[in-house]
Amino acid sequence: MTEIFRIIPITSATASVAQQSGAVQDYTGLGVPHGYGQVADTLQRPLRDLRISVTDRCNLRCTYCMPREAFDKDHAFLQRADLLSFEEIERLARLFIHLGVQKIRLTGGEPLLRRGIERIIESLARLNTREGKPVEVALTTNAVLLSQKAQSLKDAGLARITASLDGLSEATFRCMSDSDVPVKTVLDGIAAAQRVGLAPVKVNMVVKRGVNDHEIIPMAGHFRNSGVVLRFIEFMDVGCTNGWRMDDVVPAREIVEQINSRYPVRQVDPNYTGEVAERWHYADGSGEVGVIASVTQAFCHECTRARLSTDGKLYTCLFASSGTDLRDPLRMSATDQMLAGLIADHWGRRNDRYSQLRHAVTEAPREKIEMSYIGG
Ligand code: SAM
Ligand code: SF4
Ligand code: SF4
Repeated sequence: MTEIFRIIPITSATASVAQQSGAVQDYTGLGVPHGYGQVADTLQRPLRDLRISVTDRCNLRCTYCMPREAFDKDHAFLQRADLLSFEEIERLARLFIHLGVQKIRLTGGEPLLRRGIERIIESLARLNTREGKPVEVALTTNAVLLSQKAQSLKDAGLARITASLDGLSEATFRCMSDSDVPVKTVLDGIAAAQRVGLAPVKVNMVVKRGVNDHEIIPMAGHFRNSGVVLRFIEFMDVGCTNGWRMDDVVPAREIVEQINSRYPVRQVDPNYTGEVAERWHYADGSGEVGVIASVTQAFCHECTRARLSTDGKLYTCLFASSGTDLRDPLRMSATDQMLAGLIADHWGRRNDRYSQLRHAVTEAPREKIEMSYIGG
C-alpha cells in the first residue's frame, strides 16, 4: 500500500456542506485524521451515494443485463470467500459515510439471493450520516422473492425499495427476463412491499425498442392510482455482453410524449439536487411517473455515486473499466485511516463522465464492468 493519508482539501463545492455540518470532524469516532470530511472529485462533485452489490448472481437472465449466452452454467461467478462479508461491508460503509455518503442502496445481481440480507440492512440502518441523521438504506430487486421477504426487510429497517418489471404480458416479461417466472409473482412482490409500508415503491422498466416499448402505456395504466412511482429507463450500454445499439434506445422524450398523449402529464421539480429521474405528475392527480434518460440527457455533472462491487472494489462510474481494491487491504489489517485514505484518494482523482462523452468517444472500445457485478 503506497499512499496512506491524503488530506482532501475542502473545495468551494464542499464548503457549504462543511458549513452545514460544522466543518470537518470525526463524526464516526474512527479516528480519521483531521482534514478528512466531505470529499469532492476533480469536477467538484461530492461523494453522497453508495451502491453496494451484495451478490453477482441472479435468478433471472435479463437480456440487457445478464444475457444467458454470457452468464451460462460455465460462467465463473464469485466464490463465497471472494464476497465481502457483512462485517466488511459495514466497516467500509462507515468510512464512506465519514467521507460524505448519505444514502446506501443494496443491489446486485439479485440482492434478495444473498442469505441473511436483513442482517446487513439492520446494521447499515443504524448508522448516522455526518449530519447525525440516519443513513437511508434502500434496495433494488427483481421482486421475484419479494412477497416472502417484504416484512423482514421492513423490520430490518429498509427505508425504500425499487422493483424492476419490464412488461405486464407474460410474453414480454419472458422475452426481457429470459425466465419462466410469472408476472404475477413480481406484482405480488410489489403489492407485499406496499402492504408492509415500504412506500412509495418505485418500479423500474428498461425500455428496448421493438421489444417492450408497446408496454409503456399498459404499464402506465396499470400503476396509475396505485401509489407506485413507475420509472422508464433508457436501455444503456453497460458492460460488454448486452449487444447494445443506439437504435434500441427509446429516448425519454419519446416515452413522455407517448404517455402524455394518453394520460396528460406535467413536469415537476426534482425531489433533491442530483435526482436522476425526471419527474412527471399525471394532470388528473393519479400519480407520478419518471424517466431516466441516462443515454440521451446525461446527468454526469450531478453524479455523486460510488459503487462497491461484490468483491470489494470501488468504482466511481457505471461504465468504469477498473476500480480500487479495498478488500485485500481490509483483509490485510489496514486501519480505518488507511482505508478511508484509499477511498478519498480514488474519489479525489475522479473525472468520470462517460455518458456525457459517449457520442464523442473515438478511441477503441474498452472493457467495461458488467452491471450485475458492479451493482445497478
Ligand atoms: N436484480 C435487481 C433488479 O433487477 O432490480 C437489481 C440489480 S439490476 C442490475 C438494477 C437495475 O439496473 C434494474 O432496474 C435493471 O433493470 C437495470 N438495468 C440493468 N441493465 C440495464 C441496462 N443495460 N440498461 C438500463 N438499465 C439496466
Ligand atoms: Fe438480474 Fe436485475 Fe440483471 Fe435482471 S437486471 S439479470 S434481475 S441483476
Ligand atoms: Fe455517473 Fe458515470 Fe453514469 Fe456519468 S456515466 S452519470 S459519471 S455513473
